[in-house]
Amino acid sequence: MHHFEYRDGVLHVEDVAIPEIAAATGTPFYCYSSATLERHYRVFSEAFRGQPARVCYAVKANSNLAVIATLARLGAGADVVSEGELRRALAAGVPPRKIVFSGVGKTDSEIIFALETGIDQFNVESEPELERLSELATARDMTARIAIRVNPDVDARTHEKISTGKAENKFGISWQRAPAVYARAAELPGIEATGIDVHIGSQLTDLAPFEAAFRRVADMVENLRAQGHDITRIDLGGGLGIPYRGDNDVPPHPDEYAAMVKRCIGHLGCELTFEPGRLIAGNAGILVSRVIYEKTGDDRSFLIIDAAMNDLIRPTLYDAFHEIRPVIEAAGTAEKVTYDVVGPVCETGDFMAKGRRLPRLKAGDLIAIMSAGAYGAVQASEYNTRPLVPEVLVQVDRFAQVRARPSYDAILKQDMIPSWLE
Ligand SMILES: *Cc1c(COP(=O)(O)O)cnc(C)c1O
Repeated sequence: MHHFEYRDGVLHVEDVAIPEIAAATGTPFYCYSSATLERHYRVFSEAFRGQPARVCYAVKANSNLAVIATLARLGAGADVVSEGELRRALAAGVPPRKIVFSGVGKTDSEIIFALETGIDQFNVESEPELERLSELATARDMTARIAIRVNPDVDARTHEKISTGKAENKFGISWQRAPAVYARAAELPGIEATGIDVHIGSQLTDLAPFEAAFRRVADMVENLRAQGHDITRIDLGGGLGIPYRGDNDVPPHPDEYAAMVKRCIGHLGCELTFEPGRLIAGNAGILVSRVIYEKTGDDRSFLIIDAAMNDLIRPTLYDAFHEIRPVIEAAGTAEKVTYDVVGPVCETGDFMAKGRRLPRLKAGDLIAIMSAGAYGAVQASEYNTRPLVPEVLVQVDRFAQVRARPSYDAILKQDMIPSWLE
């Protein structure tokens, strides 16, 4: 459910017509709906009513300060994977006691910053990280509260580039090693190991892999408790999928997910943390682009648009499907064309959609690439020296740029010519 609908034939974001935003900002731009962000956060958190659960939004899905602040106002915590994201969460008003820090490669300076900030929990992903965290905490007379991220070795049955819970993936500590690592953690002075953490992948559209992983986690908690470890917290990560193809693919509802969680681990009486990212931001954002040319090739037609893989890399990187809608709704009788929708970047992999049936479009028309709110702007680059795509947030009938398009001067000023070339 989202708030991007046609009104009188013009695609709107909440109460704002997209052409109005395009006139103010130019194209391409990302556009987010506050009501959709809020709705997704509420649906997810309300699914856990009656369970001791908290939601730490996975900032990496969409880390714009305005997006994080929208969620922070509703009480969301944050799951961060770098010092930069931690600083964003703090700047957007997330209190340190609601922040968890994940990631396989936390550096010393990142750990020190997180310790000094007083975040709630480190999700530890390796034995060397555990040792280092203890040293750095001890040196400051601090104790780091941690959860150990275990790798349950289950197949998330999602795209291989977003699967994280198989033995061959770099994430977490292997199932077999986990008890020894908890034993070691119990000896370390700077560590309080009261939690266990699991995150098996992203865009899961089936509950079965979650259920398999969560049952393993429950068994592990019982084992660890039997060995004298006081495990009181379970972090179940993120990963619940969203519909990318309208009503044709319907992932499990958060209510079903929450009921499954209760079945698997409710009896343990632990405090629960969830780290949804895509579920909250994915369908709350679109990428708006303008057609530059319609080019008719020998065996297909290309729609060349002003957004490209540097703005949204998901089709290229994950073979992702994004629905494409003309901003001005076509009549039901309009001629349809099969297009490859491509950007101007000099890469064969630069496409948004292949073989897509769309009403015939022409230069100057606006299109909306749907479901682009998660893993869109955050993965954008300036490849081909294309200015980083700006972002706009809509709230009911008003909108604001929440990241401006940089000028070419600003882009060129980032480089420096050394003295021997002057
Ligand atoms: C990416 C990630 C998430 C969020 O995943 P979504 O699929 O966006 O919900 C949560 N936790 C960790 C540790 C992650 O790496």
